Amino acid sequence: MSTATITGSAIDGSPCVECKNLANHVALSDKPKQPMPGDKTLCLGCGSLNILDDKLMFRAPTVDEFLDVAKDPNAQRIRRQILRLNALAGKEKRA
Ligand SMILES: [Zn+2]
Repeated sequence: MSTATITGSAIDGSPCVECKNLANHVALSDKPKQPMPGDKTLCLGCGSLNILDDKLMFRAPTVDEFLDVAKDPNAQRIRRQILRLNALAGKEKRA
């Protein structure tokens, strides 16, 4: 059983590359971890993939990064859950 850990980070206020929602510094992890350049995250606003750049701000993924996540069943399951929750909340989101 994993234990959720809430951590703050330098990504506060970084906008999603697609929907421009702002990061709110909250992340859940099974162990303490500071965000690192190259880390991947899915936007809770639209489900889009964002990558942390060298300044820990979001950037668009490269084709290879996008394909890596597209092949990851866990990432796709999480993305489907984000889109489902947004649909249930009545938000119009991109697929
Ligand atoms: Zn977004």
